[in-house]
Amino acid sequence: MDKKLIKVRILEKNGDLKHELNFWMQQRNEETLLLNIDTGVWKIDPKYNQLFEETLDTKKMDVFVDTSLFRKLQEDDLLEIAVDDNRDNAFRLLILETSERCNMRCKYCFEDAKTRGANMNTDTAIKAFKKFISLEACGDSICIEFNGGEALLNFEMIKKVVPQMVEGAKSAGKKIKFTIQTNGTLLTREMASFFKKYEFAVGISIDGVGTYNDNRVYCNGAGTFDDIVKGIKLLKEYGIPYSTISVMYELGQYDSIVELLKYTGCKEFRANLITTIGRGENVLDINNGEFKAKEMAREYVIFIKRMLQEKRYYEANTIYYFLGLLLWHPFMCYKEPCGAGVNQLFITSNGDVFLCQECCFIGQGKVGNVNDEKMDLVEEIQNNDWFQKSQGRITSEIEECIDCPWKRFCCTCPCKVYAECRQIEKKSIFCEFNKYLFEELIWLIHNDTEVVMDFLQYNF
Ligand code: SF4
Ligand code: SF4
Ligand code: SF4
Repeated sequence: MDKKLIKVRILEKNGDLKHELNFWMQQRNEETLLLNIDTGVWKIDPKYNQLFEETLDTKKMDVFVDTSLFRKLQEDDLLEIAVDDNRDNAFRLLILETSERCNMRCKYCFEDAKTRGANMNTDTAIKAFKKFISLEACGDSICIEFNGGEALLNFEMIKKVVPQMVEGAKSAGKKIKFTIQTNGTLLTREMASFFKKYEFAVGISIDGVGTYNDNRVYCNGAGTFDDIVKGIKLLKEYGIPYSTISVMYELGQYDSIVELLKYTGCKEFRANLITTIGRGENVLDINNGEFKAKEMAREYVIFIKRMLQEKRYYEANTIYYFLGLLLWHPFMCYKEPCGAGVNQLFITSNGDVFLCQECCFIGQGKVGNVNDEKMDLVEEIQNNDWFQKSQGRITSEIEECIDCPWKRFCCTCPCKVYAECRQIEKKSIFCEFNKYLFEELIWLIHNDTEVVMDFLQYNF
């Protein structure tokens, strides 16, 4: 056995109980990982080998405050009871559902986007923006994301509102940046030159080369790969920063992404696991084991190692996993409770305000409509049932997760869990993926600290 959970009782000299702590221990290559599972503080060091050996046959250990082991634990902060989280509770991201419609019909579309549907009008977009920047908790630097459906189907609205938003942000003394999430197939030169002018960052959805992109099809079932790549080439020609976003569901896909990046010359991307939201449940039966969690995690780790070595491309989730393991949870989906209704809001094409886009997809967390002038957004958020539920979902209190060594790092999306299990207080169906991943990454940080730090530095 090379890993185990042990309960350590810290005792005063006179035998009185001072603390009771839960540690995860793992031995590899004559070093021992000691992880305080309640705080997430961890250390890998040969000095803990003895402790590992001594507790081989037991799940409990008493440590007295006047022993050298106590001093070692104290030295490494492993006795801390709680860790201060530097939480960023400012609103930073406003996502506008620019169009409900889409010119594509991806088989797993989380939005369940169809060819018919409403576009957001200029008035609604501006009202949403004004409400957002006038929130007391609105950050000094904000991001507006145009999203869909297919956002480019409503480029006319984007064109009108962006200059007004730039002015509005300037008067409010805020920095503003824009992003757009698009399938890239409708991109024109006019759009590209507009995005260049307003310094947009563009996210292009594409899942890999060959059959790996087969879920992303037009309404008539025809493939989209060549048209997406044309869009990417246009962005490159105009020097617009872009990244790709892929939905991961199949073995071999991480390799395919590497090929895709080489082929398109893209450096930055994001590989998101598939969810069962919207049409997502049609693609594979995740609950019945069609998603090969451990094998996918193994491929992801190989891929991460390659990415670190080659220093040619950067995957966003990897960065957040590393930062999480280093005890800094900076991003809205990678902290707990998450940033829905705290750091971000989502506005539908008709002006409905949701805590975040995923909440909208599962029909939860609606907190009003921007056209309702009397709406007190802050009060609506605070009183919202789903907001209270999702803010109250703490992984370490979930029965299935209580003894999990990775509970301090495993920030699971409450909406995705709800979509998977119809309950919020459950573990993620990607649990096995997460467990494998965290265990490997923690050793990777220890064994290749410099390389990991270089990688993180590039991104900040
Ligand atoms: S491009 Fe996006 S919005 Fe359109 S069908 Fe595909 S996943 Fe849905
Ligand atoms: S979902 Fe799985 S990996 Fe995450 S904390 Fe729960 S048991 Fe651990
Ligand atoms: S509900 Fe999910 S998608 Fe929305 S902010 Fe929270 S973790 Fe992210």
